[in-house]
Amino acid sequence: MEAKIRARVAAQEPISREEAEWLFTQGSDALLQTLACEVRDRYHPRGEATYLIMSILNFTNVCVAGCKYCSFYKYPHQSGAYTLSFEQIQAKLNALIAYGGSLVGFNGGFHPKLTLQDYRTLFERVHARYPQLSFFEMTVAEFMFYCKQAKIPYAEGVEILAAGGTQWITGGGAEVLDDDFRRRVSPGKYTVEDYFSAQAAVLQGGLGSTATMVIGFGEPLEERMNHLERLREFQTVMEGRLPSFLCWTYKPYNNQWGGQEISTQEYLRWLAVSRIYLHNFVHIRTSVLTKNEEALQGLLYGANDFDLPIEDEVTQKAGATISVEFESILQAARMLGYTPVHRAPFTI
Ligand code: SF4
Repeated sequence: MEAKIRARVAAQEPISREEAEWLFTQGSDALLQTLACEVRDRYHPRGEATYLIMSILNFTNVCVAGCKYCSFYKYPHQSGAYTLSFEQIQAKLNALIAYGGSLVGFNGGFHPKLTLQDYRTLFERVHARYPQLSFFEMTVAEFMFYCKQAKIPYAEGVEILAAGGTQWITGGGAEVLDDDFRRRVSPGKYTVEDYFSAQAAVLQGGLGSTATMVIGFGEPLEERMNHLERLREFQTVMEGRLPSFLCWTYKPYNNQWGGQEISTQEYLRWLAVSRIYLHNFVHIRTSVLTKNEEALQGLLYGANDFDLPIEDEVTQKAGATISVEFESILQAARMLGYTPVHRAPFTI
């Protein structure tokens, strides 16, 4: 099997699902690193890693989805529920600018009293006040909820947001794109088919999106592979319009699902398999948000890019610890033989 996979990667052919499973379960770390870096080198200068400073701005924690793995949400009338004012948002954006940040990922819950029009109005104000920043303005999961609330097709939802200047609806909220997984831990969110139809509408409407995944809920390999397989097919149909794939790890604290964190080694091996299997993704990103400096080892396993986040309440509530000692994180990349290069946010 190893020789067959090596030959396939050398010929720049996609590996099969069975080969990906073999790599994850039986391939040595050295093999995973070699093949993942071989695929990465098709797209990026060897020895270089790009990064940017960003913030995940949690606009509201009010949510009615009730995902069992979530440590962040509050029901509408629950104590601690909040929706930020424009002044509070400004304070967070000003803090990001002070850190030298350039990208903001808006992320909130499924708030039953907010509408797409409310988001559009908010984003218009934010764009006007902060032309120097780039924004990921919603996740696909949130976008789907607000379209359903308004009883409008996804294409119309895209038009509403695009008219207000929205450029990106990220692939956040994907976790594991497998319907059995979704029924177990997040039955109120969406089906996989629905998720991809919404993301297709986003891309076909001229907006940008990204691919994400979260692992470590105790999901079997088959479900993880279903995620990668659907994603690779989708990327092919969409002619490579998703610029990046970011995988991070579930944090099991303060929520109903609980469990234990997966090891860094397991994360790194999955990152490598993702890089090799998702041959049609240019950027594979490693998660400083959930793995801190250990995430930089992902560069040895095929990743080429990472964020330096200054906050994200969703993962912090679940146990993530964020450091703004950026120099020490960048130094970790250098120690591994990579030159960190600051990059601009993606453009469509
Ligand atoms: S993960 Fe997102 S959608 Fe699910 S409960 Fe938490 S905030 Fe709501």
